[in-house]
Amino acid sequence: MNQYTNDAGQMLCQICKEEMPFKKRNGEYYFEAIEELSKDYFSKEHEAQFLALCPLCAAMYKEFVKLDENAMRALKNALMNSEDPEVSLDLGELKTSVRFVESHWQDIKTILQESGPISQ
Ligand SMILES: [Zn+2]
Repeated sequence: MNQYTNDAGQMLCQICKEEMPFKKRNGEYYFEAIEELSKDYFSKEHEAQFLALCPLCAAMYKEFVKLDENAMRALKNALMNSEDPEVSLDLGELKTSVRFVESHWQDIKTILQESGPISQ
């Protein structure tokens, strides 16, 4: 998850692209590692399955994506078909996007391709 630290040493949220709101007592940024899709979509555990999100985006992502089968399926297709390491995302009324660093992007695409089509 250190890959989301920019040149200035700030760790950025993958959705709002803002600096994480606070650092923990040990000096490291607080962030939430949220699995992109539910377990049904991934055949095995891999670090690339997780997004690094600030607490607010994490809460919205859980509500509007993880609890919505259609939203999850749409996001999976967007991830697999997008040429850019940034895919658009609707969180309720908010139109935003998820941005990936290149190495994370390559990993998540590989994982999704290996997982194959999910059974409904
Ligand atoms: Zn955020």
